[in-house]
Amino acid sequence: MRMFEGKVGLVLGVANDRSIAWAISEALMAEGAELAFTHLPGESSERRVRRLVEACQPKLLMSCDVQQDRDLDGVFSQMAETYGTIDFVIHSIAFAPPQELRKPYVEMSREGWHLAMDISAYSLVAVSRRAAEIMPDGGSIVTISYYGGEKVFPGYNVMGVCKAALEHSVRYLAWDLGRKQIRVNAISAGPMRTLSSAGVSGFDEMREHAVRKSCLGRNVEFRELGKAGLYFLSDLSEGVTGEVLHVDCGYSVVGL
Ligand code: NAP
Repeated sequence: MRMFEGKVGLVLGVANDRSIAWAISEALMAEGAELAFTHLPGESSERRVRRLVEACQPKLLMSCDVQQDRDLDGVFSQMAETYGTIDFVIHSIAFAPPQELRKPYVEMSREGWHLAMDISAYSLVAVSRRAAEIMPDGGSIVTISYYGGEKVFPGYNVMGVCKAALEHSVRYLAWDLGRKQIRVNAISAGPMRTLSSAGVSGFDEMREHAVRKSCLGRNVEFRELGKAGLYFLSDLSEGVTGEVLHVDCGYSVVGL
């Protein structure tokens, strides 16, 4: 029997076939998981995501801007109506205004800072609270972080501050939801070429540096992030919560 046969999960943050959320989704579907997806409101987002996910015939493909409580309420009530209960959630979402990322962090506007923090960090709290209501028998929630939340990467700027908040939210959520047997963890991924990372100035340099410096002498592959997702969302990690797992070919352990 496949590892995720009979398990149901929600995936937030698939944009295209280079999305980290898609790599994890593919790994889950290969193991028999039933997945529901969201896309940003708007026809072009819906078309883009629908084209990608239609092969797996999801029962639900829902519009959701994580800044909107109404959208989040709608997503989780549709999950409850369709499935009753769910087993896991993938939160793979971040955003900062590109023009703000190009400026030094010290020049960051209040408005841009709040927007980035709301979408990239607070959304995990908003999602986890609602997910917990339909996880009566426990569950697993995973989010995606980056080493720029621990160390300064010039150009990563406010996104690094958001990742620091996201990672510490993982620990507080793990505490709040732990007695309900709901686990919350993060994968800290090596730099990947995706739609989001295209907005980070100096990204190619970060990627090349990661290859030179990492223990394995290469960058992580999407399928390896998929496997890390399987680990956190399955019983393989049943005693693990509040963790940030670096899936970066050992980049973060080398002090060069
Ligand atoms: P991606 O494919 O562009 O995924 C980001 C997703 O966030 C997209 O689906 C995007 O939707 C969605 N999104 C943005 N604002 C949203 C909002 N207000 N409401 C709902 N969804 C929203 O890029 P990715 O690299 O896979 O990013 C996924 C996660 O991995 C992010 O948290 C990112 O910081 C993290 N991460 C990435 C890397 C990397 O090198 N790529 C490394 C470590 C961690 P639209 O595309 O429709 O705008």
